[in-house]
Amino acid sequence: MYNKNKIRFFRRVLLDWFETNMRDFPWRKENISNYQIIISEILLQRTKAETVAKYYDIFFKKYPDWEKLTYASISDLEKILHPLGLYKHRAQRLYKIAQEYKKKNGTLPKNKNELNDSNLATQYVSSAYELFILKHRAALLDINMSRLLRRFFDPREFKDVRNDKEIIELAHNVINIKSCKELNWAILDYAALICKELKPKCIECKLNSDCRFYKQTNQILLNEPVDESQLNISYDPMISRDPNKPFQVISLFSGCGGMDIGFEGEFLVHKDSINDAINPDFIESLNDDNFVKLRPTKFQTIFANDILQDARNAWVNYFKKRGYSSEIYHVESIVDLVKTHKNGAKIFPDKIDVVTGGFPCQDFSLAGKRNGFNSHKDHKGEIIKSELASIETRGQLYMWLKEVIEITKPNIFVAENVKGLVNLSNVKEIIQKDFSTANGNGYIVLNPLVLHAADYGVPQSRERVFFIGIKKDALSNKALLELSKSVVSEKYNPFPPPTHSFTKTGKNLKPPVLLKSIFNNLPEPDDSLDPSQMFYSKAKFMGKHCQGQIEINLDGIGPTIRSEHHGNIEFRRLSLKNGGKIVHEVSEQKMVERRLTPRECGLIQTFPPDYEFIIQHSKGKFFISPSVAYKLVGNAVPPLLAYHVAKRIESLWDLYFNKSNNGSISKPESRKKIIPVTTGQYSDNSFIRIQEKRKGISNIIG
Ligand code: SF4
Repeated sequence: MYNKNKIRFFRRVLLDWFETNMRDFPWRKENISNYQIIISEILLQRTKAETVAKYYDIFFKKYPDWEKLTYASISDLEKILHPLGLYKHRAQRLYKIAQEYKKKNGTLPKNKNELNDSNLATQYVSSAYELFILKHRAALLDINMSRLLRRFFDPREFKDVRNDKEIIELAHNVINIKSCKELNWAILDYAALICKELKPKCIECKLNSDCRFYKQTNQILLNEPVDESQLNISYDPMISRDPNKPFQVISLFSGCGGMDIGFEGEFLVHKDSINDAINPDFIESLNDDNFVKLRPTKFQTIFANDILQDARNAWVNYFKKRGYSSEIYHVESIVDLVKTHKNGAKIFPDKIDVVTGGFPCQDFSLAGKRNGFNSHKDHKGEIIKSELASIETRGQLYMWLKEVIEITKPNIFVAENVKGLVNLSNVKEIIQKDFSTANGNGYIVLNPLVLHAADYGVPQSRERVFFIGIKKDALSNKALLELSKSVVSEKYNPFPPPTHSFTKTGKNLKPPVLLKSIFNNLPEPDDSLDPSQMFYSKAKFMGKHCQGQIEINLDGIGPTIRSEHHGNIEFRRLSLKNGGKIVHEVSEQKMVERRLTPRECGLIQTFPPDYEFIIQHSKGKFFISPSVAYKLVGNAVPPLLAYHVAKRIESLWDLYFNKSNNGSISKPESRKKIIPVTTGQYSDNSFIRIQEKRKGISNIIG
C-alpha cells in the first residue's frame, strides 16, 4: 500500500541520522538483563525517556532483580514509583508481573503464544519483549512513533494506536529489516527530538522533501501548552550562569515570581517608589517620566517551584525574556520533591546561597478559615480526608521549606507570610524555633518582623511577616556575636530600613506613593492594547456590605490585593449613584464604573509594567485568564518589597560571611547593564512594543 521507495528513503534517513544523534539511555546498553528490559519498558509507558533515565537508578537500586521485586508489596511499589507518576497503575502491573514470575518459578515466556497468555501482554511491553528478548522484528509502536509515521506517510487524524490496524501494519512494514532494533530506536529518537508533537523542526528535518505533512501544511504547528501525564521532573538542569550574579537562589512557593523579581532586580518601578536619599544605589536608569529601572542584584534564581501551573506559565513567560530556561520551574509539590531527593534523585542543586519562600498563607490569613497548622488542605491543595492534620498539610508546609534548607544548607533563608500568622496563638514562635533547628540548631533565626509594604514605596496596604535565618557556621565570629544579641544593632540588622512614611516617621522618608501617580497616563481598558489592562472582572456592584465593593482612593494607597476574591476586586471607579467620589472622571469625562484591572492590581503590587498577567491564546481564549491573573497578582510578594530585602542582604553579605572582614560594609558597585528589560506601556510608542511582544507569545510555555 505504501510506496516502497518512500519507505526505503525513510529508513535510510533515519538510520543515518541515528548514527550521530542516538540518545544514550541505560536500558539501551549492551548486556542488560531481561529483568531490566521488562521493567524499563513499564517505566517508559506514557513517560518521557529522559524522565525515566533520571529516575532509573532509584528503582533499580532498591529492586535490582526479580527476587527483590517479588517481595515488594503494592504499597512499597506505589511509594517508590510515586515521583514518576502513574504510580498506582504501574505498581499494580509490576506486582502482577512479579507474582506471575514467582508462580512460574522464574521462567519467562519463550514464544509469542506464552507471551500473549502472560501479564506482559500489553501492546507496547509485548512488542518490546518480542524485539529485545525473543529477537523478533517488532515495532515499538507508541504515540510518538505513530505521529512520525503518520506525518511522513499519511497525515490524518490520530486514533488510539492500539486499535488502528493501518498504523500497526505500516509500522511493521517500516521496521521489517535486519537493523530493526536500531530503526525502532531511531524513530523514537527522531520523534522526540525533531518531529516533536508541538513544534516539529520541519525546516531542519531531513525527511521534509518527501513528508506529506510538511507538503500539506508547510508551516510549523502553533505552540500550545499541554499537560504532561506524568510528573515532569527536571533533575538539576544545567542553568546558564550570569557571572555578575554570584549568589544562587532556590525559590519555593514561587507563584508567579514576585519574590524572585525582587531578588533579581533589574525591573521597572514608579519613580516615587524609590527614595534616593536612603537608597542611592537602587536606580540604574530613568526609563521615562514615570518609571525608573532598578539595578540588578547579585542573586540569580536557579530553581523555582509551585504547584500552580498558571503561576509557572506566567513566571516562565516573564523570566524567559531574561534568558532563563523554563526547566528552572518545577510544578511538583515541595513534599514530592523533597521525598524524591531523599530517595536519591538529584532534585535540588548544590552550592545554594539563599532559599526564599512565601509558604502558603491561606491557613493563617484573616481572609481564610485560620486553621493554622491544622489546615484542611494537603500539599497539593486538595481537601484532606484524614481527621488529623499532618506535616504534609498545607499549614505545615514550612516544615518542607525547612527540609530544603537542611538539604541545601544556604547561608541565608527568607520566609514570608501574612501578618495574621503573628496573631495566631504562638504560631510565630513555633515556626521561628522550628526554622532555627535546621541542620542541628544551625541557624540564627531573628525575631520575625512585620513589614508594611507602603513603608517601602509599595502603594498598597499590605503587611507581611518575614523570617530571616542565617547559617551560624558561615558567619564571621564578629557577625555571629552581633546577630546573637537579643537586640541586633542597626549595622547588622538584615531587615531593610523603611523609605516611605506610611506607618513610620523620619526626616529622610518620602511620602507614601499614591495611586494617582502610578495610574497616571494608564489608558482605560477600551483604549489599551495590553491584555492585562483590556480584560477585567465585570462583577456588578453588590452593595457596600460585601468585600471588594469599594472605590479606590486615588489620593491614597491601594487596598490589599487579595488572591481569593471571586471577581470582587475593588472598583477603579464607582458611578455616582453607587457612591463614587471621582466626580471628574464620571461626570466630566463620562468614564464608566468598573473594577481594577489585573494591570492596575499588578502596579499596586509593584510588578513591572511589562509583566504579562493575562496571556491570550486566541479570541476569547486564554493561556492565563483574567480571573487567574488576579489570583496570581494577589498571591505574590510585592517585587519592590522583596528587592529591599534582597539589597539589604546583599549589602551585608561581606560583613556576615567574609571571615577576614573585621566589620566593614561593602560599597554598592556600579555595573553595566547586561540583560535588557522590555519597557512598559507608558512612553509614547510603548503600546506598539507591547503589541509586538504579544506576537511572540507562542514562545512562552514549554
Ligand atoms: S518534515 Fe516535519 S512533520 Fe515531516 S517528518 Fe519532518 S519534522 Fe516531522
